[in-house]
Order: sequence, then C-alpha cells, then structure tokens
Amino acid sequence: MITTATIPNVLTIAGSDSGGGAGIQADLKTFSALGVFGASAITALTAQNTHGVTAVHAPPAEFITAQLDAVFGDLRIDAVKLGMLANADIVRAVAAALRRYRPAHIVLDTVMISKSGHALLLPDAISALRDELLPLATLITPNLPEAAALLGEAEAADEDGMQRQAEALRALGTLAVLLKGGHLSGDESPDWLFDESGRQRITGRRIATRHTHGTGCTLSAAIAALLPRAGSLVEAVTEAKAYLSGALENADRLSVGSGIGPVHH
Ligand code: PLP
Repeated sequence: MITTATIPNVLTIAGSDSGGGAGIQADLKTFSALGVFGASAITALTAQNTHGVTAVHAPPAEFITAQLDAVFGDLRIDAVKLGMLANADIVRAVAAALRRYRPAHIVLDTVMISKSGHALLLPDAISALRDELLPLATLITPNLPEAAALLGEAEAADEDGMQRQAEALRALGTLAVLLKGGHLSGDESPDWLFDESGRQRITGRRIATRHTHGTGCTLSAAIAALLPRAGSLVEAVTEAKAYLSGALENADRLSVGSGIGPVHH
C-alpha cells in the first residue's frame, strides 16, 4: 500500500526564473515529475526569458533564513537541492541553516553564470561557497567552468584533467563530486562521479537540440528527488541523467520563446 508517508519531501533553495525554464520553476517541475513533494525557499528573483537575464533582485539574507526556518520548523525534509545563491551573505545564511537542520542529502549545484552570460553568483561569493557549503554538501554538480573557478585553475581540457579536478574538489570537503563534461566536444557528454567508494564514468549521448535552458537545474533537482529512495548515489545520478535525457529529447516539442528554450519535463 502506498501511503503519503512514503513520499519524500524535497526542498529547493534557489532562484526564480520568470520564464519558467530554469531555477525554482525547473526544480518544482522535476520534483512533480519524479513523484516527490517539493518545497521552495527563493534566494533571488530573476527577470528572465529565453534570451537571457535582464535583472536580478536578491532579498536580504535574513529573509532567506526566515523561509528556511519556516520550512524546516514544520516539514520533514528528506533532501535539499541548492541552486542560485546570488551573493556571499545568502551563501552564509544558507550554510548556517543547513548546519542547524542537518538534512540527510544536500545536492549543491554550483551555479555561477547563466548560459546567456549573466552572473547568478557574484564572483566574490565563490570563496564563501567553497569554504562554507562544500563541506556540508553530500554531492556537488559543477560543470567544467565552475570546477575551474572553485579550484582557481584553468578549465579541464580532457577527461584526465576532469578526474584530477574532481579529486581536488573532493579534497575540499564535499562527500561526492559529479563533474559534468558537457562542455567537452565530442558525441558523448561524459560525467565523472567521485565518492568515497571510488570513481565512475557516466556517459550520456549528446542530444541534438538547441533548447538546453535549465539542464543543470533539472539534473541536480532530479538527483535530490531520487536520493531519498535510491539504493546508492550512483543509482540516483544514473536515473537523474536518464530523466534529463528524456527532457532534452522532448524539448523541441515546446514552443517557449524565440531564444534558447527550456527542456520539457
Ligand atoms: N536562472 C536561474 C534562476 C538559475 O538558477 C539558472 C541555473 O541554475 C539559470 C537561470 C541558468 O540556466 P541555463 O544556464 O541553463 O540557461
């Protein structure tokens, strides 16, 4: 018998995308599609469409704390996904709340810059993200530019470089790293997963669509949704990648804006 008690509650702490393709909106669609209940603490509002971000409004950090106290004070939270955090004050407020409430799974999508080139995390907040949040995360999901920024190194140019950087990121205190190789050229989109049991290459076929807005948000949200019921991290990541592939395969069925459109959940 399925009871409501078996349905995980998953919280996204991220930014809003008014165009509906990324951020909180992508996260909640992913949660629904994967059968979990979604809660949301909004770190920033973006005025955004498929052509890009035109304005960002971040509330005072105390307002993020108020949202987190309200959610954790009432809801059982089985997993957390972290997305756009906007600035160092918000990073520190989120880290303080996570230290207080200690959710079992924390998936940190190290969001820094949108595909359209807009900063979603101020550059001076990268060190706060590294020092305060990496040690709390059970998984981080950087792409190649984000990994390079966290390490203060050049971007990995091949899979050997990716593995070296994934190892170096784990040495900063996070339990596991999914380093996404989508920025490498080739027919495959190889990701490397490093955790305490070793390393694993997880490949995905490159899907031919220009509509890729919100892919990183969707993948990290799917992992957070799947982790509470998965047998292992690698199982959750593999299933989440399959979910994202399906959303990319369906993206061309949407007619959302005239720029880089979203994936279809
Ligand atoms: N807008 C918000 C609020 C986001 O959180 C993100 C990614 O995390 C983006 C935009 C970027 O989306 P993309 O780079 O996939 O276009």
